Amino acid sequence: MKVPLFDLTEQNRVLRPQLDAAYHAVMDSNQFVMGPAIEELERLVAPLAGARHALAVSSGTDGLQLALMALGIGPGDQVLVPAFTFFATAGCVQRLGATPVFTDVEAASFNLDVADARRRVTSRTKAIIPVHLFGRAVDMDATLQLAQEYDLAVIEDAAQSLGAKYRGKPVGALGLGGFTSFFPTKNLGCFGDAGMLFTNDDHFAERCRILRVHGMEPKYHHPLTGGNFRMDTLQAAMLKVKVPLLADYSANRRRNAGYYHQQLSAHSKVGVAGVDGDAAIDLLLPPLGDDAVIWNQFTIRITAGAGQRDRLRAHLAERGIGAEIYYPLTLDRQPCFAHLPTPEIPIEVASRLAGECLSLPIYPELKEEQLAMVTTAIIEFLDTE
Ligand SMILES: *Cc1c(COP(=O)(O)O)cnc(C)c1O
Repeated sequence: MKVPLFDLTEQNRVLRPQLDAAYHAVMDSNQFVMGPAIEELERLVAPLAGARHALAVSSGTDGLQLALMALGIGPGDQVLVPAFTFFATAGCVQRLGATPVFTDVEAASFNLDVADARRRVTSRTKAIIPVHLFGRAVDMDATLQLAQEYDLAVIEDAAQSLGAKYRGKPVGALGLGGFTSFFPTKNLGCFGDAGMLFTNDDHFAERCRILRVHGMEPKYHHPLTGGNFRMDTLQAAMLKVKVPLLADYSANRRRNAGYYHQQLSAHSKVGVAGVDGDAAIDLLLPPLGDDAVIWNQFTIRITAGAGQRDRLRAHLAERGIGAEIYYPLTLDRQPCFAHLPTPEIPIEVASRLAGECLSLPIYPELKEEQLAMVTTAIIEFLDTE
């Protein structure tokens, strides 16, 4: 038996009749762009992010692009972005001619370090994009406090975190706006690219709605320069089948994270990030937290150095177990940002994490047998090092 890093076969197999029906309903309707399926999906997903407005968009990236366009972000503006995240978070800023300002992250959560972000604010800073990475919420009280002090717009990147909570409230619309992604590997995945933009601000929602269709309002009149940021109706129709199951998927991911903790935390070389800082520790587990974390990734840290991390990955691969490095190179070091000034305050934690992180299989349909293969292989590795 193998343990792939991620596998949708079983999830889609049990839903096949409903998915086929949804697909055929769109085919028969001949409505492939917008229409009732889009509106129904928006209605279903909005409460998952605590949002009054949800706008179906062509991808998570496009949701962020749209939000930044609606804010009027452009040349001369700076936007605070964590250095440790997927590229899109910063790419959208640069595509508008604005400057991403990279901030360091917290070692225990992998998330934006708000105290570090505070040191990088200038008179040109217009917005901050807290990324709820791997399914865990950023410290939003501190983020919103900082934003209020300096009049920054907060756009949450909840691409990996639809359904995650911060102090009991769903993430996604805690600031001015936010977005999620339905890329197939996210907790709620569609059958291609799609995303959703969230906000509780009526005016902002209206601007986004107009920009989503070429800045058009009314038909063939263009007060704004928008683009085509629409979600395909087929994606919406098929995704609707999965929305009611998101809570179950997340519960299963949580169960898998609990299993890893249960099997690994007693080992003398294993600790928990943010709890143990002992030099004798070789492997740090992400803190389990409570049910606020939805575990898009289960990312361990191999603190004995990048060589050990890569050796563990190879050891797992030899046993048919998938593991991936999210992310090997921090954004401040990406070639496409090389023209930006070197940060005055070095970005050290993010850089260290990039050398230590390894994400293990965590998808909802994993069998206990497969989870046991992973923990057995890790313990075997630790015992022979
Ligand atoms: C997936 C992801 C995105 C982009 O979403 P797409 O739907 O793939 O465009 C943005 N930010 C983060 C943190 C992501 O993981």
